[in-house]
Amino acid sequence: MGVRLNTIEVLKQYFGYDSFRNGQESIINAILEGRDTLAVMPTGAGKSICYQVPALMLPGVTLVISPLISLMQDQVKSLNENGIHAAYINSSLSDSQISRALEAAAKGTYKIIYVAPERLESSEFIRFASQVQISMVTVDEAHCISQWGQDFRPSYLKIIDFVGSLSKRPILSAFTATATEEVKNDIACILNLRNPHVVVTGFDRENLYYQVENIRRKADFIVSYIEKHPKDSGIIYCSTRKNVDSLHELLFTRGVPVTKYHAGLDSETRKKNQEDFIYDRAPVIVATNAFGMGIDKSNVRYVIHYNMPQSMENYYQEAGRAGRDGEPSTCILLFSAQDIMINKFLLERKDFSGVEPEDIELIRQRDGKRLQVMEGYCRTTGCLRNYILSYFGEKTGAPCDHCGNCHREYREVDMTSEAKSVINCVFETKGRYGLNIVLGILLGAKRARLREIKAETYKTYGVLKEKNEAELRLLISQMILDGYLYQTEDRYSVLKMGNIAPLKDESTRVILRMYEEKEPSRKPKSAKRKSTDSLTSAGYELFEKLRALRLAIAREESLPPYIVFSDKTLIDMCVKRPQDHAGMLKVNGVGAAKYEKYGQRFLDEIGAFVLQHPEAVTSIPEDGNSEK
Ligand code: ADP
Ligand code: ZN
Repeated sequence: MGVRLNTIEVLKQYFGYDSFRNGQESIINAILEGRDTLAVMPTGAGKSICYQVPALMLPGVTLVISPLISLMQDQVKSLNENGIHAAYINSSLSDSQISRALEAAAKGTYKIIYVAPERLESSEFIRFASQVQISMVTVDEAHCISQWGQDFRPSYLKIIDFVGSLSKRPILSAFTATATEEVKNDIACILNLRNPHVVVTGFDRENLYYQVENIRRKADFIVSYIEKHPKDSGIIYCSTRKNVDSLHELLFTRGVPVTKYHAGLDSETRKKNQEDFIYDRAPVIVATNAFGMGIDKSNVRYVIHYNMPQSMENYYQEAGRAGRDGEPSTCILLFSAQDIMINKFLLERKDFSGVEPEDIELIRQRDGKRLQVMEGYCRTTGCLRNYILSYFGEKTGAPCDHCGNCHREYREVDMTSEAKSVINCVFETKGRYGLNIVLGILLGAKRARLREIKAETYKTYGVLKEKNEAELRLLISQMILDGYLYQTEDRYSVLKMGNIAPLKDESTRVILRMYEEKEPSRKPKSAKRKSTDSLTSAGYELFEKLRALRLAIAREESLPPYIVFSDKTLIDMCVKRPQDHAGMLKVNGVGAAKYEKYGQRFLDEIGAFVLQHPEAVTSIPEDGNSEK
């Protein structure tokens, strides 16, 4: 390397980025000072750079322990593209390939080696590790070490013995996107981190727009969304294989370039479909939650959930696969009351074989709680981003003005007196009935079942007969959210009295937000406008040309297009229109190695465009007005 580069020079030279993101620099500096480090950063925040930059600057090799084969492959491809020698060793390689890789590694060919945790026990690997200088061991997806985490992997426990067996203790760094306090402590304790530098960056992903749609005709919504965003890549999650198959079929017959993924497909098909998606041959994928672990595709513009996931942790992880490149992206959850029933049903049938009896009740309670949190997200009329952040224990401020609920138009209606009638009814009927009977009584309905229970003898029978049923339903779910009522968890769920003490105070109001039916205004704040929005129509034309060139190169090189250059990088090229080597290196995401490989072809394309359109203005200044 000749002259020693500093961290920012390494970032520029190898990755083509000008500055560090929040948290990265302090992590890198701590590692370079030889300190153990634990970083909790949301998906897309840029964790990889935090260990890749120091790996390049430390002597010897960095071992990265990662649970997912596809993730390793993606990372290694990306690193090699950036001119960094890296390799992976996992079960996708044959024994002789592994031996060859280890031989090359022993000669110092690689700076970064990705391994699956199981590998740490293999005698061949242990022999190799004793021969080379291992400066750092990085544990990716570190939450896998905790039994309290979502995806506990017993093989992660092997890491400690392995590190102990090395003649010189390497620096340990651990990274995860999801860690509660418990899991964070587990990681530090179990990995035996020494006086670790702990960094927890905020969980907010500013570029993501959250939206919940309470609708029945979900498929229609998806079709029309895709028609409005034909060029975008997206993931649609369904809870069952059956839903995946039928939605895929529907989109396919509509001519959408779509593929699918679920555990019922054979592994060949799964692999092929996943690659079609990653290489943008089929930019839309319909999948169960079996899909996505280790998918690093950075240009996913939307993630739509066709069904409600079982927990916020799952939702945030799946939705978080949108917009890893930092570009504005949308996360939509389609919700219908049926989702709650299906989820309850699934939990009831959960397989508990092998679980200690005393744990079963605990797990059931935890699952029930998680489902309630998720239902709350679907039903809340407040800011969705704040709902998520406060669930993850972050302080929240004013509504974000960048989510579906913040942008929805609604009127607030004072329903305090109606709420009191509902309470009277539940009280009078001694909490024996479910939502539909309670509604029927209040509305004074004449149904056979109501006659059977002699509903008309109740004092509350018909007291709200002037009211609209849908509004009363909304009111009752709001009252459940507020804790005034609760629904029992068993199969014949009934409404019971919750904590009504606050309502006894005259000043307490029950306010309901009623959404207007008209299309909500979605004007994004200027700071969050899509970056292609900063292009003029001429700029967009150039962007399309550069995209086509990228696709051609990706096919030649058998690489996913986003590994050649991200959308963000192409947009920056359109804005800066570099004319030469120096200009090209100023573009965000163009490092030395990438310039060597592709720089000239992009310069040529831009040059040709400028020649054809000498007067063209390609971008709109940040605060300018677009002419649309
Ligand atoms: P994570 O592992 O935290 O989910 P990644 O490491 O995959 O995130 O990074 C997400 C994206 O952000 C990648 O495309 C990466 O190249 C990009 N990125 C990371 N750090 C920076 C930076 N300092 N400047 C610009 N882009 C960055
Ligand atoms: Zn909001």
